[in-house]
Amino acid sequence: MATQISHWIDGQLVSGTSGRTSPVYDPATGLQTADLDLASADEVDRAVASAKAAAREWRSASLSRRSTVLFAFRELVHANTDELAKIITAEHGKVLSDAAAEVGRGLENVEYACGISELTKGGFSEQASNGIDVYSIRQPLGVVAGITPFNFPAMVPLWMAANAIACGNAFVLKPSEKDPSASLLLAQLWKRAGLPDGVFTVVQGDKEAVDALLTHSDVAALSFVGSTPIARYVYETGTKNGKRVQALGGAKNHMLVLPDADLDLAADAAVSAAYGAAGERCMAISVAVAVGGIGDRLVEAIAARLPKLRVGAGADPDSEMGPLITGAHRDKVAGYIAAGEQSGAKVVVDGRAGAVPSEGFFLGPTLLDGVTTDMSVYTDEIFGPVLAVLRAETYDEAVELINANPFANGTAIFTRDGGAARQFQFDVEVGMVGINVPIPTPVAYYSFGGWKASLFGDTHMYGPEGVNFYTRGKVVTSRWPDPATSQIDLGFPTMR
Ligand code: NAD
Repeated sequence: MATQISHWIDGQLVSGTSGRTSPVYDPATGLQTADLDLASADEVDRAVASAKAAAREWRSASLSRRSTVLFAFRELVHANTDELAKIITAEHGKVLSDAAAEVGRGLENVEYACGISELTKGGFSEQASNGIDVYSIRQPLGVVAGITPFNFPAMVPLWMAANAIACGNAFVLKPSEKDPSASLLLAQLWKRAGLPDGVFTVVQGDKEAVDALLTHSDVAALSFVGSTPIARYVYETGTKNGKRVQALGGAKNHMLVLPDADLDLAADAAVSAAYGAAGERCMAISVAVAVGGIGDRLVEAIAARLPKLRVGAGADPDSEMGPLITGAHRDKVAGYIAAGEQSGAKVVVDGRAGAVPSEGFFLGPTLLDGVTTDMSVYTDEIFGPVLAVLRAETYDEAVELINANPFANGTAIFTRDGGAARQFQFDVEVGMVGINVPIPTPVAYYSFGGWKASLFGDTHMYGPEGVNFYTRGKVVTSRWPDPATSQIDLGFPTMR
């Protein structure tokens, strides 16, 4: 019997009433493990009403009370890392160590938000004019929502919720319907940390729930992370409905390898970044660009490493790479490999023929050489364990290729030449850059986000930009004049 996964509203589990459900699978076995309740617009409305009432109270909570809750939540998430990792692995499929690392990267954002009293400090200008002081404050928005993807079911919600709640908002999470359970353990931990009921809410659902949030008059802002077509839709619909929206989309991350790079180091990095989490990371490397005649040696070095990767169930401590999220997605990725082969790419290592478990949604690591920019394996985000290798004669040609790609989430350069690396950082039109670092995900006190089709809106996620996103500025001009000096003056006030 599959278990039922429901919503978290007003500090408790609430069963769905829409009558619509969606199956949740264990990707390592391919078997259904649960039925997920999908919220109707009415259920979203009830959840937002509870969040709205809670937001009114929570914005009055002192900064020190908010930090106290954040610190307690930090301890609880830390203590429950293994439990969260088990839940993530059971529904997402990634290996346990990777799931625990995801929780760790999410935790960084909670630690950052613990310093909320420092982060929301305003400015003060004494004597801006005679007897007049001017100061700025930042205030919460009210109810804010987060819509998150399947590939980081704990980390991405923490990117959003930690800062949103620390800033004094109520946060409504709509997790991915593919791996919804981590959100419910996070909800319990928030409650145990002392967060008032209704400040953290989970509505499970699909497009219907997302649309209800996008058009709800009491939702002030929306943070989205997912694929580019949905990010664009969320941005356009949310802003049309008067909301503040940050919408992070898909990726096609290039790794540029210069001729002077240490090829073993570059090959290790390419394999780690392309096949970790079965390539289902928005910062995964999916394209390697070999510059100046090193292509054959790079391909050989990567290919030699792939047969040694241990592909298996994420819960098995010996596994290094788990399955893909669904059978349909596995078949789609295999279809891309076939399309690449048909259009002339060389399948150097074929994951379709790889030694992988026969049950579950597995696909082995795949390496394609001789890929060109017109092939679908290059133009599309595949989001699987497939690395495409392209060649470029020169550095300039390689950078031109990267800059011509519509996606611009992350990129990396591998070289021993500091000057070339610095030039790359200057030239490349991508939001996050690694120098000999293949997955340059910024730490929590910077902000995360790509450019072009990888981000809609102008605000990156978490860090200082996250705090800005979840607050609005107010500027106060104040004076305490002696009533005896009062007079009527119809002139426009100047500060002289
Ligand atoms: P997705 O776009 O299919 O789903 C993301 C969210 O949108 C989910 O909560 C889903 O329920 C909802 N959704 C799906 N279809 C919808 C529709 N038609 N209308 C309204 N809402 C809809 O993405 P995914 O498959 O869950 O995640 C993988 C994608 O996310 C990849 O493209 C990956 O690159 C991207 N991603 C990007 C980042 C980043 O920071 N830029 C981080 C993680 C993942």
